[in-house]
Amino acid sequence: MAKKRPNRDKKDNFFNQNPLITFAIFSIIIILLFKSMIGPTGGNMGEGAATHMVGAPIQKSKEVSYSELKNLIKQGQIKYVAIGQRTIKAIADENGYKVIYFANRVPEDNTLIPLLEQKGVDYGGYSESNWVSEVIFGWVIPIFIFFAIWMFLASRMQKSVGGGILGMGSAKKLINSEKPNVKFSDVAGAEEAKEEVKEIVDFLKYPDRYVKLGAKIPKGVLLVGPPGTGKTLLAKAVAGEASVPFFAVSGSSFIEMFVGVGAARVRDLFEQAKKEAPAIIFIDEIDAIGKSRAATGPIGGNDEREQTLNQLLAEMDGFDSAKYPIIVLAATNRPEVLDPALLRPGRFDRTVVVDKPDFEGRLAILKVHVKHIKMAKDVDLTEIAKLTAGLAGADLANIVNEAALLAGRKNKKEVEQEDFLEAVERAIAGLEKKSRRISPKEKKIVAYHESGHALLAETTQGAKRVTKVSIIPRGLAALGYTLNTPEENKYLMQKHELVAEIDVLLGGRAAEEIFIGEISTGAANDLERATDIVKAMVMMYGMSEVAGLMVLEKQRNLFLGGGMAPVKEYSEKLAEDIDEFIKRFLNQRYEHVKDRLKEYSEAIEEMVKELFEKEVIEGKRVREIIREFEEKHSIESKLVSDDLEDIKEAKERAKKESQKEDEPKREKE
Ligand code: ADP
Ligand code: ZN
Repeated sequence: MAKKRPNRDKKDNFFNQNPLITFAIFSIIIILLFKSMIGPTGGNMGEGAATHMVGAPIQKSKEVSYSELKNLIKQGQIKYVAIGQRTIKAIADENGYKVIYFANRVPEDNTLIPLLEQKGVDYGGYSESNWVSEVIFGWVIPIFIFFAIWMFLASRMQKSVGGGILGMGSAKKLINSEKPNVKFSDVAGAEEAKEEVKEIVDFLKYPDRYVKLGAKIPKGVLLVGPPGTGKTLLAKAVAGEASVPFFAVSGSSFIEMFVGVGAARVRDLFEQAKKEAPAIIFIDEIDAIGKSRAATGPIGGNDEREQTLNQLLAEMDGFDSAKYPIIVLAATNRPEVLDPALLRPGRFDRTVVVDKPDFEGRLAILKVHVKHIKMAKDVDLTEIAKLTAGLAGADLANIVNEAALLAGRKNKKEVEQEDFLEAVERAIAGLEKKSRRISPKEKKIVAYHESGHALLAETTQGAKRVTKVSIIPRGLAALGYTLNTPEENKYLMQKHELVAEIDVLLGGRAAEEIFIGEISTGAANDLERATDIVKAMVMMYGMSEVAGLMVLEKQRNLFLGGGMAPVKEYSEKLAEDIDEFIKRFLNQRYEHVKDRLKEYSEAIEEMVKELFEKEVIEGKRVREIIREFEEKHSIESKLVSDDLEDIKEAKERAKKESQKEDEPKREKE
């Protein structure tokens, strides 16, 4: 959508967008004003000279020698003489011209004054131009005054931002690089994310290896995850591991300054990073500048943000990563609002999810943070990790610190478990208002619901494999989730695969009905998607007996946003039949799904039990549970995937683990 822009903006924008030019213009104006106030500096001829100059419109000046000047005086051509410390100025009238003669003085000569007296020439002294005073009065003081005013305004305008008082479009003083001393081992419980960024360290350390092969080094990586999950920490660890400089800025700091400054700062930021390349640039809260233009609407647009965003895009496209190995890491917890332009190839074309930690992750994070804490023997971090479901790394770091503070207040020598428990309580009480933590009752519903999805996914031909089942809340929308492996390059869906997807979607609601005895609102999204699939089967794909091969809805044009309302080109009777069909079809699938769940109820109970313990179970474990159940009751296996080998391996692993259960689990390096 084109943005309407009032005309007057254009005028404002010139100055707003060019703070340096504005600054220069204002400086010059102020200097001129100041100069006119204190009068011309330098050669001040005094009043005498002024009277002699009146009525002399044209003026010349000549430099002569001292003796020549004396001759001129002797010849009576000179009307007035001004004697300075080093020079002499003399004024003569020549046919209506005003001529000023300059001569260097000969200080030892004492005959000048008597000569002037003798000839009756008006004379006086003058203070010579002194460059020191000229510079001080003419330039330094006005500039200083101007700076004072400028800084006063700047500091008022950005009290909220803190720091960066100059606001002159220069990032040089504002963005400092550091070489962080953070290593991957300081980032705990984010194994997948760490794995994904490890490659970047290699790019930064040995860019030549990649450049030689003609490979393009990636420029931007988006770190997506809720606040406090360690995105900044991870970015620092990348810089720390590669031992390259780390430039950190926050997206919001770009737009809270003067208009036009954001873009200038982006420019400076990249300039500086280039100087120190290889380097990491970290942009926190990139959504502050990268909000989709469409999302902000035609009126609520923000020129400043748009300029900053455009500058960022230009910089990212502009630098040659073979010459300057710079990787821009940007963090956000709202990837969905980002302008698609940011995500194009060559920009932030990689995404790394930094999620809230599961039980193991929380335990690992706690262990990192208690390293410097004096702990009593009774401390059981496992219990703390269990109690802190849904909390992020930053919350856990806080809990550890809070526990130490509490122990200190009680004048203890060591931090005890009760201090940790109290700290947890405080943290949770504080967070319950802010973010969502699920109640045990909700946890139960979510566990059954997700297990239902998982069971159907693993026992239905054509469904996607489960990678992970979780009851950790993800953002505000989802209380839990079941992750399915996306299949690569899949362009076609067969009918049985569509039906399988419907079954999996219905598995959540069906599990609630069977195992909880009451249904909840948690299935709304599942049901909507299931309905959409049936509808598409009927209306678009010709897969139903009710409409046969007749296509009733044209595929929407994705490039035009797909916003057009479908035109109904069929009878009311058929419409009713279709509605009836969709309802019947879904009910039929639902009955089938319920039967399956009832049959496997023992397996479901096992999954729920493990979800309660660990909050997350891997897809492999889901298959293992199902296989164990089938073997136990000698049921013919409905398992779709055949990772028997994996299962054997997993069993051995489980055995080993149960032997050394008490040992803390080490991080994979
Ligand atoms: P984000 O950038 O995602 O908001 P930060 O990286 O600023 O989060 O995290 C704040 C602090 O929380 C870190 O400095 C660290 O002390 C702690 N923290 C967060 N996540 C982790 C983690 N995975 N491992 C260890 N500490 C963490
Ligand atoms: Zn669901």
